[in-house]
Amino acid sequence: MSQLTAMQRKTVPDSGRRRVVILGSTGSIGCNTLDVLRLHPDRFEVIGLVAHRNAATLRAQAGEFEPKWVALTGEEHPEGSVSGPWATVHTQTELLERIQAPDVDIVVSAIVGAAGLLTTWAAVDAGKDVALANKETMVLAGSLVMERATQTGSRILPVDSEHSAIFQAMEGHRDSVERVVLTGSGGPFRGKSREALKKVTVAEALNHPTWKMGPKITVDSATLMNKALEVIEAKWLFGLDADQIRVIVHPESIVHSFVEFRDGSVLAQLSPPDMRLPIQFALTYPERWPSPTRRMNWTELNQLRFEQPDPETFPALSLGFRVARDGGTSGAVLNAANEVAVERFLAGEISFPEIPRIAADVLNAHSLNRRPTLDELLAADRWARTEVARWITNNRTR
Ligand code: NDP
Ligand code: MG
Repeated sequence: MSQLTAMQRKTVPDSGRRRVVILGSTGSIGCNTLDVLRLHPDRFEVIGLVAHRNAATLRAQAGEFEPKWVALTGEEHPEGSVSGPWATVHTQTELLERIQAPDVDIVVSAIVGAAGLLTTWAAVDAGKDVALANKETMVLAGSLVMERATQTGSRILPVDSEHSAIFQAMEGHRDSVERVVLTGSGGPFRGKSREALKKVTVAEALNHPTWKMGPKITVDSATLMNKALEVIEAKWLFGLDADQIRVIVHPESIVHSFVEFRDGSVLAQLSPPDMRLPIQFALTYPERWPSPTRRMNWTELNQLRFEQPDPETFPALSLGFRVARDGGTSGAVLNAANEVAVERFLAGEISFPEIPRIAADVLNAHSLNRRPTLDELLAADRWARTEVARWITNNRTR
């Protein structure tokens, strides 16, 4: 059975509240998700909240939403720092069991990076609905995740705004899709030359023109690696070939993506940029509920611009298409290499143009396994991380 047929059969129950776990509740997507839940207290119940290091925010969230349990997965927090009337989960095994428990309907996957894979996998494995923000899971292991979701009946509902747009525009006509066109704002360095990017500072890279997001995805948006990761995410989520995916720069971030059909028609989803909209749609699908999202201002709207991406200045983008073509372990390698390179850039250890250079070099050095197991993907991830460390040491000591 296709993902969509299975999806359309499940609906949000009229009686009772949808029982939600949020992985990464203290992040940008996590906080936006809680904002959505705050608006519909009679329709949702928070079962579990998972954060990493931000004990103060987790404690405040737990005080407000009264979950059954919380987990703080980072090591550097004092014992008891999130204690309260809720249970505190201490081990990874217990966390995975809690995610898979019968009292959970939907899991919001909003941890950043490959660190989100195992908890997301647990949700898919137990047949839970998954509101997926953590695109790195799809980049790393999209093939296996989609295969497992089909087996367990897990519905993977995209939160990433482009994929939510595609999901919405495709509905009912999935078999007639010819191609999808992902839009991207172009990031803070749109129109800049390759030369100018050499001097980019961390603060400049963190200053996104249209979206307010966590630091990793903000840097990814500046290099266009985010769009590369989204190409791979689209491939797996929607079962597309690499040559059915295009990217176009759209500075206003109003058209969230296009779907082109076999008869030449193109459908798009538009709204002012606000992540609460795709988050809520993932949580309420197939229904649409009222939302406070700002409406389109049709009297002020006078232009929507579209430009071709600049592959010379932003070489990361082509890596996404390459991985979408190659599949296998290449996604795990690109994702891990990029993650470490971004961390090193944020720590001031490498320059901005070195992020895509490192990602490309590590991808070139890797030998592709076309049909990896989950363990082999995790091994490829670990290998890529050590390769980045080696790259930096070699290039600094030369
Ligand atoms: P943030 O950096 O704002 O938040 C990250 C969350 O993950 C925090 O709750 C953090 O916990 C937790 N976390 C960090 N490291 C780990 C770890 N090693 N193990 C477990 N949890 C960890 O990120 P965003 O909310 O911006 O992004 C989350 C995901 O959503 C990413 O995959 C991103 O690509 C995707 N996404 C985000 C969008 C956005 O608008 N922000 C849009 C589309 C996709 P703590 O703070 O407690 O340390
Ligand atoms: Mg996006």
